[in-house]
Amino acid sequence: MTYQSTARTSERARAERLTHRFTELFGHAPHGIWRAPGRVNLIGEHTDYNDGFVLPFAIDRAAMVAVRLKSGSESTAGTADLASTYAPDGGDLSRARFSIDSLTPGSVDGWGAYPAGVVYVLIGLDGAEVPGFELLVDSTVPVGAGLSSSHAVEVATIVALNDLLGLGLSHPDLARLTQRAENEFVGAPTGIMDQSASLMGRAGGALFLDCRTLESEIVPLPLAEHGLSVLVIDSKVAHSHADGGYAARRASCERAATALGITSLRDLSTADDAAPATFSAARIVPGSAPNTAADAAPVTGPVPGAPPITGTPKTDVPELDPLDVLDDETARRVRHVLSENARVLETVQRLRQGDLSGVGELMTASHVSLRDDYEVSCLELDLAVDAALNAGAIGARMTGGGFGGSAIALVHESQLDQVRDAVLKTFADHELQTPDTFTVLPADGAQLIAFAGPGCQENVRRS
Ligand code: ADP
Ligand code: MG
Repeated sequence: MTYQSTARTSERARAERLTHRFTELFGHAPHGIWRAPGRVNLIGEHTDYNDGFVLPFAIDRAAMVAVRLKSGSESTAGTADLASTYAPDGGDLSRARFSIDSLTPGSVDGWGAYPAGVVYVLIGLDGAEVPGFELLVDSTVPVGAGLSSSHAVEVATIVALNDLLGLGLSHPDLARLTQRAENEFVGAPTGIMDQSASLMGRAGGALFLDCRTLESEIVPLPLAEHGLSVLVIDSKVAHSHADGGYAARRASCERAATALGITSLRDLSTADDAAPATFSAARIVPGSAPNTAADAAPVTGPVPGAPPITGTPKTDVPELDPLDVLDDETARRVRHVLSENARVLETVQRLRQGDLSGVGELMTASHVSLRDDYEVSCLELDLAVDAALNAGAIGARMTGGGFGGSAIALVHESQLDQVRDAVLKTFADHELQTPDTFTVLPADGAQLIAFAGPGCQENVRRS
């Protein structure tokens, strides 16, 4: 197996272990290894499904997959055989299996539904034929913590199949397909942000994404240069996107848009006028996969041949103040979306000016809006945010869909211990389960780590 010379040492060691494990399990070497990270959303929550703006970053925790395509002559040629080192029910691996030809939404239970959803959307593409395959996944993204462990698995699977089958799909295509896999196959009504961050993130930057057009820009997030860390506080409260709260918020936004005669809440935002100007000339428009470390673009800088950003025409904007024609609860939901879009734009401006401490205030304002207007926080997340701020964090907020999952705090490195201790003490005082705390760094998006065999190499080059 040939390893990219730029692959990080620890990743290479992990890939070698995964290759070894795969070979032991399936009796053949894999055709390649890919990784896809989880994400933290710095700001821009519940704006993605409203066609708005988000600013997540890919984190230095990722799902790694080893994959081998089966040949037509194998006895199980039409079957996907899956294994994962995540085995909550005991044992050292959990297994899943599905037949490629008989996939329908709901036909695969458990974690196998995520790779199966990816296959389901790929076989719906014109001319794409997916053979059976073997896949082993090993992930360092905590499960159910709101850091998108599920998208890490889906994105790792889709970039692997894109490369192995030579499909040549671009990052925006892969993002939209992965969203369809979650929405249509898994049944989680999630937006486009998480997989976009996992696909397009860059080390040292955050991904400023227009969820309507998928135009994007990497905005510098030089935490270390400013002596700052992002501390994740996993509340250990299980969230589930398939549960009612997330879907109810989404439905509420859709009802509000219908009542106001607009396509999405984005149409209410003055952000549409601002959009073309908000993307700097030095933007990164995603290219086609694979996104290897070797071909990664610099953190900022123009991409040759990138199409101009045209913005979106503003149509059918109601003349009435929209918040006056909606019931109180819906008006608060809408107010959150509008104010959060504005905060994302403001954060981007500040980051471009290197003003990271100003970003802290915006993060905290985002949390207040999510807590009071959008009502998606919970006791544990509020306690984590309050404790972190009281102990000196310069900003803190829940991250992800809410109702549990994680909070993040922007903290001076010198105060990291005191903030962490304060959070742990608060949880202990309230007799809550001890949260997990760890720092994360902005990392590169999904990558091919290694591939084997001349046939594969040819496919990878073509894509
Ligand atoms: P998260 O915020 O972590 O994405 P979700 O509830 O959306 O939480 O997704 C968690 C689910 O994703 C798990 O229950 C499992 O089905 C799947 N998953 C995540 N990581 C892995 C993994 N390493 N192996 C197998 N399945 C995984
Ligand atoms: Mg998820």
